[in-house]
Amino acid sequence: MAEAKSKVDMEKLVSLCRRRGYIFPSSEIYGGLSSCWDYGPLGVELKNNIKNAWWRAVVQRRDDMVGLDASILMHPQTWEASGHVEGFSDPLVECKSCHKRWRSDELEGDECPDCGGELTEPKLFNLMFKTFIGPVEDEASVVYLRPETAQGMFVNFENVLNTTRKRLPFGIAQIGKAFRNEVTTGNFIFRCREFEQMEIEFFVKPGTDKQWFDYWLEERLNWYLSLGIRKEHLKLRPHTKEELAHYARECSDINYLYPMGWAELEGIANRGDFDLVQHAKFSGKTLSYYDDETKEHIIPYIIEPSAGVDRTALSILCDAYDEDVADGEPRVLLHLHPSVAPIKVAVLPLSRKETLTPLAKEIYDELRKHWMTSYDEAQSIGRRYRRQDEIGTPFCVTIDFESLEDKQVTIRERDSLRQIRVPIEGLKATLQAKLDGEDLFVLPDGGKIWKEG
Ligand code: ATP
Repeated sequence: MAEAKSKVDMEKLVSLCRRRGYIFPSSEIYGGLSSCWDYGPLGVELKNNIKNAWWRAVVQRRDDMVGLDASILMHPQTWEASGHVEGFSDPLVECKSCHKRWRSDELEGDECPDCGGELTEPKLFNLMFKTFIGPVEDEASVVYLRPETAQGMFVNFENVLNTTRKRLPFGIAQIGKAFRNEVTTGNFIFRCREFEQMEIEFFVKPGTDKQWFDYWLEERLNWYLSLGIRKEHLKLRPHTKEELAHYARECSDINYLYPMGWAELEGIANRGDFDLVQHAKFSGKTLSYYDDETKEHIIPYIIEPSAGVDRTALSILCDAYDEDVADGEPRVLLHLHPSVAPIKVAVLPLSRKETLTPLAKEIYDELRKHWMTSYDEAQSIGRRYRRQDEIGTPFCVTIDFESLEDKQVTIRERDSLRQIRVPIEGLKATLQAKLDGEDLFVLPDGGKIWKEG
């Protein structure tokens, strides 16, 4: 069978994101900063929607999870205990002619892929960003920007246990920035030097770890489906024994079919007792759990589902990107699921005529109490629809001159182009039902089909 390929052109997606205010290169007026990105007005909404959906699913809707927001700068011993100081590195080679640097484990031959020049011997390059704490810049004041959020949860295991009185199995969840001085970058926001993670550390009794590992694999896969990502664009890739990280007993990636091919969106690992044992050793504290049933102190095993906000955003955008023909004109659209779409509803008066403005503004003011809503009265209605389609707004509400008489407005659905006409009274409830997935042609009292699409 032929290997599946993404239909999305990354350059077109990057261009849309820039043009519409989703994502800009960082410090663009200075020529940008390699592999750093700024999320614009729509991008920040998309990211917040992703993070909120994750937080609701893994913290707020569960009894066995609590949240945490640990600081980015941590005691430097953290990174010795975790193995990052010694082992968090990539093998780096440099071209002797053009001086470009490469990861030797990603190269096919032994020449520079750019100029064919000779390469140096591989040297291990630590991916952690170093900085200094306090006014003196010496070895004693070195701290690192965290390369993952996970360690904040391990070092707070005892604090959380003592303050929440949770019993096993339970988990800690955290969303936050992480930094890696990646050697090879690129593919837009897939691999950044500054990015955001959404991580869970789920503490379980040894012996139940396999069952919980399988549970989280399924749970996390279903979460991506709930955001509208297509099933055929996701697959599990179990790690072989040889590629398992030093701390992992078992690991599986959730891969997504990006424009450059299948690649990791989230990693789920069974870390055993590695982290608590290491931190107990380095800190001199006892990081264990008293089991009421067996009357024994045990060291829990940890299941870690570790996801990236940026890679989730990229998967959602790739999955949503589409081009078609609408009303005889080509259009670009994002089929974003309403739960992640930055703007849920756009309010569009048919014309700029003053007679329409007060009613349109009144409707806008009402709807924006409930959702991120946009108001647009510039240019033709067709152009305005296209603009909303391109940024992925699921519904447009149009106010026309009839509306002043019949107190009704039209709702247009982005994907199908179908329209219904509904009473302004009850508009909020109608839109809520549609955003929750009700078919557009299920009509409220007094509503009618306006356009078949
Ligand atoms: P890769 O093999 O692609 O470098 P990784 O296995 O090092 O990734 P993990 O350490 O498992 O990644 O990190 C967990 C998650 O954090 C990843 O699945 C990804 O979503 C996100 N992530 C890691 N590194 C980056 C990065 N440089 N840019 C954006 N997201 C990242």
